[in-house]
Amino acid sequence: YDMPTTSHFISLPSLFNAQPNLPDSKRKKILITGGAGFVGSHLTDKLMMEGHEVIVLDNFFTGQRKNVEHWMHHPRFQLVVHDVTEPIMLEVDEIYHLACPASPPHYQYNPVKTIKTSTMGTINMLGLAKRIKAKILLTSTSEIYGDPQVHPQPESYWGNVNTIGPRACYDEGKRVAETMMYAYRNNNGVDVRVARIFNTFGPRMHPNDGRVVSNFVIQSLQDKPLTIYGDGSQTRSFQYISDLVDGLHALMNGGYDMPVNLGNPEEYTVKDFAEYIKEITGSASEVSFLPATKDDPTQRKPDITTAKRELGWEPRVTVKEGLQKTIAYFSRVLEESGEIIPT
Ligand code: NAD
Ligand code: UDP
Repeated sequence: YDMPTTSHFISLPSLFNAQPNLPDSKRKKILITGGAGFVGSHLTDKLMMEGHEVIVLDNFFTGQRKNVEHWMHHPRFQLVVHDVTEPIMLEVDEIYHLACPASPPHYQYNPVKTIKTSTMGTINMLGLAKRIKAKILLTSTSEIYGDPQVHPQPESYWGNVNTIGPRACYDEGKRVAETMMYAYRNNNGVDVRVARIFNTFGPRMHPNDGRVVSNFVIQSLQDKPLTIYGDGSQTRSFQYISDLVDGLHALMNGGYDMPVNLGNPEEYTVKDFAEYIKEITGSASEVSFLPATKDDPTQRKPDITTAKRELGWEPRVTVKEGLQKTIAYFSRVLEESGEIIPT
């Protein structure tokens, strides 16, 4: 996936001229729930540029209209403002089911709603897939491994989640969403795909998203203190958005129907990551240590053997290259909007 320049700041003619005229026999009708969010909007760009018909369904809880507004008047694009917890009738060939807040402050804002989105929302989409015989892909998460006792994490690891902790609404919601995918596959013959996505970053992350990459980049660009939660010894492995989009596409279009980790194994401690972002941005920021958040996983790194073997997929963009593009994007956002204080 070659991302159109940086960000929302896309020149419309270049996009509108970019799509090939797919013959009717190859053109698919594709539903993307959560398509106005960070990941969903990039996936929309890829599928639109391939020449498919795309329906974005979103309730705009964390998504932004401007993420997809460059497609708004395109004849192959449709935006449906709808909440996945309510059933919907549509006719499509494929469903990419992304709808769910992904950042800890957002999914913890209303835990019951997050649970409803993952449970009722996924049942609704599976019911739709069953009725219209569509293939359906769920964006699950590395969070289903909880605070992992196995490192790096292969898909065969069952995880270590605190069922009553603050992250449980998201983690357990996704775990039961996976369970439902395989119940519908086994009992109803629904063709399913499950991606377990590891930390992903890039342009169009919401500036107030609260995730570590957007926070550290925005703080660095404004020479404000970088907020490290805890002692910063916890690790994460960061993947650039274009690699994820290519991985989701390969998974949907391949024949493998068991869960697949999609992530970049480049692993950093949060403390080293803060220093790295400061260095790349040439920032004068200090680093400040804040209290740790409850149940924050201490380590995380994907084992991507399955994706390599089954999809022929592996990340192509280094963290450094991805950060440079993301920094360019947030510099532009700051130029347009003035000061941003990340939540
Ligand atoms: P995001 O918050 O930017 O996007 C989520 C989208 O879903 C938003 O547009 C939001 O408005 C929409 N949404 C939320 N609840 C909804 C509902 N009830 N009905 C309809 N729409 C709803 O997050 P993202 O980073 O783009 O994540 C997309 C998917 O990928 C999520 O399922 C998330 O769990 C998964 N994921 C993301 C990451 C990551 O690092 N970005 C990691 C693991 C998994
Ligand atoms: N984090 C941090 N400072 C921030 C935001 C996040 O130190 O301003 C830490 C957070 O505690 C976690 C890691 O960075 O250990 C990744 O957090 P993020 O919210 O991006 O994603 P998570 O992997 O926790 O879902």
